[in-house]
Amino acid sequence: MPHTNPNRTRFRFCPSCGCNSLDPDSVKSFKCRECGFGFFLNCAAAAMAIILDHQNRILVTVRAKEPGKGTLDLPGGFAEPGESIDHGLVREVKEELNLDIFDLEFFCSFANTYPYNCVVYPITDMAFTCKVRDFSLITPMDDVAGFRFIPVHDLDTGMFGMGSARNVLEKFKKAYSKQLQQPNP
Ligand SMILES: [Zn+2]
Repeated sequence: MPHTNPNRTRFRFCPSCGCNSLDPDSVKSFKCRECGFGFFLNCAAAAMAIILDHQNRILVTVRAKEPGKGTLDLPGGFAEPGESIDHGLVREVKEELNLDIFDLEFFCSFANTYPYNCVVYPITDMAFTCKVRDFSLITPMDDVAGFRFIPVHDLDTGMFGMGSARNVLEKFKKAYSKQLQQPNP
């Protein structure tokens, strides 16, 4: 087993037979010693939106809830069962900021974990660049307490509470600088 199951002490009772006999079986799975039931904690898909305004400032949110309450974040969230990742991101940005995003383009992906209520969930993070036509109706809602527009060069990734946003923004800052260095055709 290359990695240790991070939830090995959290899940002990079998969801099928109810016995205190659940053993970690891999980094993401458990097996019941009594009835043989297998329980999997598979990766959840999460998406983040990279949105620039007309002055090349990036739209960031302030987290309203734990984990990372009060820290900066990127808009986005988890895909719901039955939902594609791009439709999930469109829905999340609408719920969080009342903005309609379009022209989504895949930017990057990272493996990540999300600790919630003492469970460590494995996450597949994906980031998309997106466009917004009209920012005038922007309203922080749901799990977002506020928002800011920050020039890309002024982004301090240390102000972002979640590793997911830090990973994406470090990569985006590099790509953005590289793009600026290229001569105009
Ligand atoms: Zn069992």
